Amino acid sequence: MSRKTDIPSEQNPEELLDLKVTKPKSWAAGIPAVTEALADVLKEAGPVRGMEALFHMNKKGGFDCSSCAWPDPDDDRSPIAEYCENGAKALAEEATTKKLTGEFFAQNSVADLAKLNDYEIGKKGRIAQPVYLPKGGTHYTPIGWDLAFKIIADHLNALASPNEATFYTSGRTSNEASFTYQLFVREFGTNNMPDCSNMCHESTGVALAESIGIGKGTVTLNDFYDTDVIIIMGQNPGTNHPRMLTALQKAKDNGSKIIAINPLFEAGLMGFKNPQTVKGLMGITTQLADLYLQVKINGDMALLKAIEKLLYAAELEKPGTVFDHQHIKNNTVGYTEFLRHLDKYKVEDLATAAGVPVRQIQEAADMLKNKSRIIVCWAMGITQHTNGVATIKEIVNLAMLKGSIGKPGAGLCPVRGHSNVQGNRTMLIYDKPFEKQLDKLKEVYGFEPPREHGYDVVETINAMNEGKLKVFFAMGGNFLSATPDTAYTAEGLRKMKLTVNVSTKLNRGHLVHGEESIILPTLARSDKDVVGGEVQFITCENSMGVIQSSKGVLSPISDNLMSENKIVCELAKVTLGSKSVVNWDRFAKSYDAVRDDIEKVIPGFDDYNERVRKPGGFYLPNAAREGKFETKEFGNKVPFTISELPDHKLAVDEYIMTTIRSHDQFNTTIYGLNDRYRGIHNERRIIFMNRNDIQKAGFKEGEKVDLFNYHGDKERVARLFVIIPYNIPEGNTATYYPETNVLVPIDSVAEKSNTPTSKLVIIKIKKHVPQNLN
Ligand code: SF4
Repeated sequence: MSRKTDIPSEQNPEELLDLKVTKPKSWAAGIPAVTEALADVLKEAGPVRGMEALFHMNKKGGFDCSSCAWPDPDDDRSPIAEYCENGAKALAEEATTKKLTGEFFAQNSVADLAKLNDYEIGKKGRIAQPVYLPKGGTHYTPIGWDLAFKIIADHLNALASPNEATFYTSGRTSNEASFTYQLFVREFGTNNMPDCSNMCHESTGVALAESIGIGKGTVTLNDFYDTDVIIIMGQNPGTNHPRMLTALQKAKDNGSKIIAINPLFEAGLMGFKNPQTVKGLMGITTQLADLYLQVKINGDMALLKAIEKLLYAAELEKPGTVFDHQHIKNNTVGYTEFLRHLDKYKVEDLATAAGVPVRQIQEAADMLKNKSRIIVCWAMGITQHTNGVATIKEIVNLAMLKGSIGKPGAGLCPVRGHSNVQGNRTMLIYDKPFEKQLDKLKEVYGFEPPREHGYDVVETINAMNEGKLKVFFAMGGNFLSATPDTAYTAEGLRKMKLTVNVSTKLNRGHLVHGEESIILPTLARSDKDVVGGEVQFITCENSMGVIQSSKGVLSPISDNLMSENKIVCELAKVTLGSKSVVNWDRFAKSYDAVRDDIEKVIPGFDDYNERVRKPGGFYLPNAAREGKFETKEFGNKVPFTISELPDHKLAVDEYIMTTIRSHDQFNTTIYGLNDRYRGIHNERRIIFMNRNDIQKAGFKEGEKVDLFNYHGDKERVARLFVIIPYNIPEGNTATYYPETNVLVPIDSVAEKSNTPTSKLVIIKIKKHVPQNLN
């Protein structure tokens, strides 16, 4: 199955796999989801270990799924299964009994491993002991923990400035490990804390903090069960947050309508066969979207404005029946100016810019005009654009016009992609901390935290390439594959003196490394974390601001793994030595002690240890959810924001490409080579194109092509993709990441949030030219 590649990210292979294409599905889940989920878990973990883990996954008192951040029900949970196909696949990856010992690394050089595709690398198994790649080395070799910490500490202490090191965090890291990690990094002396949030919902955080005073969503899961309309924009829940479908089904059963807004028709937005119901098992589909608006890529702003204009027209016709004037008067500023701004557009022009017929937009407006219990959900299809922040503020405009924030059954719902990504930020993993957060750290611990803002992800990659960084430390994740401009990121990583990855499994990020490289193997969510003879629990925050405990149930595959929290504490002790004013042993010995300190430093965690022990945990305070707003610029008012439409000018041979996940994938982890909802089997190097575009460009279905991006006068290329005709707007294309991250320019970012614009990349498509890689 492996194929030749010239690294990184296997963007230039010589051969394709055995691609098979079938008709895309119009419904998600059903029996295939159950069989796929179970097959993976049984194959990797065996029946006893596998079923034991599945039984405790997402249950009260069990462990939290390490995949997405969709919340668990507050009240009763399913007696059968509280997980989805993708959660089970994520579990299979970490519960596997395959382990990578010293023998494995002796037999497989870094260069050989790099020739495998991402799927094959991931399937090798769990890393069973710390390994080290010395300068000039060809193979990772086992190393003791003490020596590993000493090498890292020596590198860190040899730096001319702490700002020559950068410390990445992925969204799996628990609240406790995130807190101790940021404390160590700040006591060491830098705010260089890029995190995966920089690449996903940073635009959401910026937009909502500025407009409603909190950078998080405002709904709870129960709001879904008692709402009138749910709008889902730029999000594919069937693949990326599958248990959301259960909430949508319940909403529909209770009479709610769903408007789906997306450039591709996704199975999980159209229909759902709930495998936990008799109906679903009998193959009966619940129709989800009542109205599906196939917007052009980044046509969302135009579409929102068109809906607002039509609502405004209805309001003028029957004053006081469409807009919530009391809410607008009490809670907003800029209403008149905003209406004046809307006046300058014609609905027809907005519809053309959105790529959606006026008739359908009118249908959407009609569904909304007499309702105010409206929930708007969104994900990367909105955030990863140059105008991501502005589009989210337009969503806020719509919600404020309708009075749809701050009451039951209504609100904003950014859906987070990785299980504790929201918690990481709450725990102060942030390159741009607020002064009052740093003041609090100083007050509690007595050291002076660095005040200068650090590097986010994009700034980190640039700083690596500019020689400003020497040490790269990653707490989880696969930095190389998750980030944009893969070849450039790889160049940066290779310039490091030392790269360190705290990981459960091998990934491509370990194979593109600095002069020296260390992998520190850590416990997974499902593993028992034993401290002082007792199994411990850690805590996480889900997409709706619920903090709950997570306690692993499986025996770790090796005695030589260490929890993330312990890794931080040991590294801090060796690096900071007697200079440290923090009692790291206290944290290493007790998660309760870490939580006691979180309570002292971070608002909203009062009685943390007591409340988190209650089944289901507790909600963090969220004033906007209560209809109270406190914004920096406008006090207790929410501003109506005026934003202009984007203007994408394309040459005749240019297309907009959006990167998407396959169904057999979670972030950069590839579980399999199929994308069964879209009818793609056994290959990932495909490009979805509109049939008219294929014909106009003189291509044929199934033709092999190379993809190019020329942003900033630099050629970026991803070779050997197969054209698949698909129902996607003309001028738009879609490809899987990480394969096409190589085309995402490092300096194409969202305004204000610096999030890479992975959902809008301008490409040219040319016939494939075979390369001689020998
Ligand atoms: S919806 Fe998300 S959190 Fe829930 S089981 Fe599936 S992947 Fe895990």
